[in-house]
Amino acid sequence: MGVMHIPGHVHQKPREVTLEEIRSLLGDCHLCPLGSTRNKLVFGVGNPHARVMFIGEAPGKNEDLQGEPFVGAAGHNLDSLLNLAGLKREDVYIANVLKCRPPSNRNPRPEEIEMCSPFLREQIRSIWPDVIVCLGNFAAHFVLHTDKGIMSLRGQMHQTGHFAVLPMFHPAAALYHHEWQQYLEDDFRLLGVWLSEHPADSPATKSEPL
Ligand code: SF4
Repeated sequence: MGVMHIPGHVHQKPREVTLEEIRSLLGDCHLCPLGSTRNKLVFGVGNPHARVMFIGEAPGKNEDLQGEPFVGAAGHNLDSLLNLAGLKREDVYIANVLKCRPPSNRNPRPEEIEMCSPFLREQIRSIWPDVIVCLGNFAAHFVLHTDKGIMSLRGQMHQTGHFAVLPMFHPAAALYHHEWQQYLEDDFRLLGVWLSEHPADSPATKSEPL
């Protein structure tokens, strides 16, 4: 599979590839050991033409059982946060860096990210969103190529190639760290303001070199 090496360094949509084609390439993937421990592979869900693409870390327990990202309590939190940005689930696309759940929700391992990330890169280039929202450190590090923590990255829009990037805490983490919920709400409001200031097809959202 031809893959985009660094999503942020691509300025123009390179070619059409459908999400169905990517899903079919994944098949019953066992490229890394998580293929043997997962229940269901969680590909991603949402609007294939979304302006906003959310990237989380990896499926959790409920996602692994149901095969969909952001179900359960974290999903409810995401739904109410989307409201703050004037968005609904059907407006956006949601995927994870890893498509399979790490046992006991341990952190993704570098070799797992290396094996799985080509599929995410293909999803990004198929959807070609205006904004990528990185939920948590692993997504932010993958998209922005930085090792800075979310606390120092959040609260402002970043730009990488074509994409505006907004890193945030993960909505699941805010269920345990209640003090992060306010940061999340502020960042979703910031997303809503950015979207209203950059309407679809405005020059700022076209694929012009920076
Ligand atoms: S995590 Fe990704 S690379 Fe590993 S088995 Fe699942 S789909 Fe394949």
